[in-house]
Amino acid sequence: MDCIFCKIIEGAIPSKKVFENERILAFNDIQPAAPVHILIIPKKHIPTMNDVTEEDGPLIAEMFAVARQIAKEHGIAESGYRLVNNVNKDGGQVVYHLHLHLLGGAKLSPLLG
Ligand code: C5P
Repeated sequence: MDCIFCKIIEGAIPSKKVFENERILAFNDIQPAAPVHILIIPKKHIPTMNDVTEEDGPLIAEMFAVARQIAKEHGIAESGYRLVNNVNKDGGQVVYHLHLHLLGGAKLSPLLG
């Protein structure tokens, strides 16, 4: 499968890991859009949020739990952060392997102006 995030999971492409367990990997985004910019991905290949099934519920919940833990570890839980999931072309999705962007470490501009 030609998926760049699957290759990162396999270790074929290097990444700066922040968290890993049997189901989830988190690593620093190579093009950070904020002082803290971490991607949280499931090890299961799910292309987009549209492909999430009911049985993925616990996995999705764990992605959010990992995000919360990472935010705490980076000292931004209280100041605040943003979780973003881009879906398909109009949503700005570039990599078709489900991921949450965790953005923080600065006052982020409003999404809707
Ligand atoms: O949500 P979207 O698909 O646009 O985000 C993909 C993200 O993956 C980008 O922020 C990009 O910088 C990141 N990326 C990465 N390492 C790679 C390839 C892409 O961190 N090797």
